[in-house]
Amino acid sequence: MIGPVGFIGLGIMGKPMAKNLLKAGFDLVVYDIREEPVEELSALGAKAATSCREVGARAETVITMLPASADVEAVATGPGSLIEAMAPGSTLIDMSTIEPPATRRVSAALAARKIEMLDAPVSRGEPAAIAGSLVIMVGGNQSVYEAHLPLLKGMGTDIFYCGASGTGSVVKLVNNLLIGIISQAISEAVVFGVKGGATLETILEVIGASSGNSWLLQNFFVNKAFKGDFEAGFMVELMHKDLGLVLSTASALGVPLFHGALSREQFGVLKAKGLGKKDFTAAITLVEQAAGVTARSAS
Ligand code: NAD
Repeated sequence: MIGPVGFIGLGIMGKPMAKNLLKAGFDLVVYDIREEPVEELSALGAKAATSCREVGARAETVITMLPASADVEAVATGPGSLIEAMAPGSTLIDMSTIEPPATRRVSAALAARKIEMLDAPVSRGEPAAIAGSLVIMVGGNQSVYEAHLPLLKGMGTDIFYCGASGTGSVVKLVNNLLIGIISQAISEAVVFGVKGGATLETILEVIGASSGNSWLLQNFFVNKAFKGDFEAGFMVELMHKDLGLVLSTASALGVPLFHGALSREQFGVLKAKGLGKKDFTAAITLVEQAAGVTARSAS
């Protein structure tokens, strides 16, 4: 049985993931720089900690679900961080989306203290974090992965071992490069169709049965953007961050990403317009404003 589990980062994704672990019967110690989600989880039976260091000292396995690479490095290996408190033989599972070189830096620093690390970023967004049906892509030592499968199964249904440290992060960036580009493509195509005189309902019915259909269209645009709901979900500023990670990683590898670069600029414009905290499907509003039409369903 996996011993006490620490959970650091109780935001849009981390809070429901931690709730699912509680429901699955894990003994949880939680921390966030914001008090409110810590109080909410405590009321449900988690133990509250007042620092990352305290989580590290009280847990055998620590999960982090933080915004960006710098946050993970600060929490895992910075001053007063997990590395100072976690015992040899314990494990850090970082489920944030961060750049693969940062994952490998943290993993190497922890390995020097005999602390294991898995990179285990996720996909399918907030609804799946709530339902416990995330995709989880894992890099790191395979035996550590296998030992922690019961924990991962408390948060996700589709769990993939990707290879050595950093490969979970790489595969996650492949996914987010795709959703960055596809969300811009959906935005342009649908606004083009509406301005051309077709109704949104007709476009969705026909494209839903055609070769241009996509998971993103059906799950995020139909259920949110086309209803005029742009509350995140997955924030524009995180999409922008992820595309930045993709571009810097690709640049170091010598891979040209024409559409990835354009997509990042478009999310940068949304951020500059004050929409950084909105859902990434707000990409459509850029095209709508330029075209002078909106794509909203009647119901
Ligand atoms: P979020 O901003 O809602 O949550 C991050 C949480 O971390 C916040 O509660 C914040 O207070 C906390 N935090 C920040 N610094 C901290 C620190 N030093 N110590 C303790 N807590 C700290 O973000 P989110 O949407 O939950 O995303 C988290 C990660 O998951 C990101 O890397 C994101 O790219 C990735 N992700 C998000 C989604 C999504 O749909 N939202 C989907 C897949 C992956």
